[in-house]
Amino acid sequence: RKTVWRLSTGSDELNRILNGGLESQSITEFAGVFGSGKTQIAHQACVNLQCEDTIFVDNEWVSDEELANPKAVYIDTEGTFRPERITQMAEALGIDGQKVLDNTFVARAYNSDMQMLFAEKIEELIKSGNNIKLVIVDSLTSTFRNEYTGRGKLAERQQKLGRHMAVLNKLADLHNCIVVITNQVSARPDAFFGVAEQAIGGHIVGHAATFRFFLRKGKGDKRVAKLYDSPHLPDAEAIFRITEKGIHD
Ligand code: ATP
Ligand code: MG
Repeated sequence: RKTVWRLSTGSDELNRILNGGLESQSITEFAGVFGSGKTQIAHQACVNLQCEDTIFVDNEWVSDEELANPKAVYIDTEGTFRPERITQMAEALGIDGQKVLDNTFVARAYNSDMQMLFAEKIEELIKSGNNIKLVIVDSLTSTFRNEYTGRGKLAERQQKLGRHMAVLNKLADLHNCIVVITNQVSARPDAFFGVAEQAIGGHIVGHAATFRFFLRKGKGDKRVAKLYDSPHLPDAEAIFRITEKGIHD
């Protein structure tokens, strides 16, 4: 097992409850309703990957080579990747937006087959010399949700989602990558609160993700991120903001 490295989310509060930042060799899930900030967090991660100040290596065992010229893959299933937003966030950090765009492979997936294929192709990108260190799937579940409707299709959907998660997990482990997935929420009946929100994908997604967040909207540009069900971190909440600069405290 290689030594993990971390990437800042942009928010010190959010980094703090993650024990430093997004962690390599694991999958971090951000679930929440529309406008809660999932896509913004994903954009910010691509920008921060190109900024030396936002990559954290807390020991000497991660070689310089390991993180030299890092690149990201952004699998976009909803058509919400915005180059101009990347440029805006990059400028706020004083880095070149074009450099971020040049080092971010954006793959627009129109269905779940394309989405899965793109994830499988990342291995080839790496073999041909691209140092892929960040993989984003935004959103993980929307294509699956659209294509596999009804109870009768649930088993098939879950099986396919499980295969997809396995591919992502393998990339994270084998190549010391950070994987970020976004997810929708659905309402389910809850014994205590009447209705509770839950991330899509059930146990298949839940068990494959190392860090799970629920995002909710606060006042104005404030957002609340709740970390839950992590195997080695306590449940915790962080407040961050989304402004024209990007994600920050
Ligand atoms: P969905 O479920 O629809 O995909 P999401 O969780 O991905 O939603 P985001 O797209 O990440 O939501 O968040 C959108 C919000 O981010 C906007 O409502 C706005 O508050 C904020 N935002 C986006 N771009 C900017 C910007 N350039 N300046 C300031 N705030 C912005
Ligand atoms: Mg989004």
